[in-house]
Amino acid sequence: MALERVADGVWLLRGDIRGAMNVYFIEEEGGVVQFDAGTKSMRKMAAATARELGGLTRVILGHAHADHRGTAPYMDAPVFCHPDEIADAESDQAISPYFDLSLLEVAPVRWLYPTLLKRWDGGPVKIAGTVSEGDEVAGFKVIHFPGHAPGLIGLWRESDRVALVSDVVYLVDSARLKPLPHGEASVPHPAFACNHQEAKRSLRRLAELEPKVVGAGHERPMRGEALCPVLEAAAEKY
Ligand SMILES: [Zn+2]
Repeated sequence: MALERVADGVWLLRGDIRGAMNVYFIEEEGGVVQFDAGTKSMRKMAAATARELGGLTRVILGHAHADHRGTAPYMDAPVFCHPDEIADAESDQAISPYFDLSLLEVAPVRWLYPTLLKRWDGGPVKIAGTVSEGDEVAGFKVIHFPGHAPGLIGLWRESDRVALVSDVVYLVDSARLKPLPHGEASVPHPAFACNHQEAKRSLRRLAELEPKVVGAGHERPMRGEALCPVLEAAAEKY
């Protein structure tokens, strides 16, 4: 998968199944910071990409689910996350404690997830430090978007209205393991929520920012002047 330019100084590396797993690199003094860590199978490509972009300064986890922490232990850089995400990041479990896979409607998908999560996972991540609401990362502001995970964070750059948001919004149908039709979005499925009502509130908060680019954890970034109604409608799915 080739590297895609998302916005000024922001790069997207897509990998794993159908290239649906996203790792972002943001240029900063001394190299690039990696936002979100994708899956274990992306570790060599992520390391090579970071080298190409001038060297990795640090890794910041959007959240600690198996498909978002996969490369982190292999990147040879300090890893940061929100304080509420440390326990899950440092855990040796690929399946987060609050997942309720029994909520998935399609039986084969329900049976497949434990295997997928273990395959995607890179194992426990040693957390070097934390980032919280209002902190600055490479010209972006950290926003706490709890719900899907307790310490889920996004990065927001007001100047060009770019939001990198991990799993605040899904552009995939995780219950059927396929992309959503182009232009559609949804709140993450309740099977993967720590607090589903909070996840819906976080998605509404993202809509209120009126972003023009939304780089999510899976599939290609959303772009346009009219993302707000799409995101508001997405919060009402599930
Ligand atoms: Zn997730």
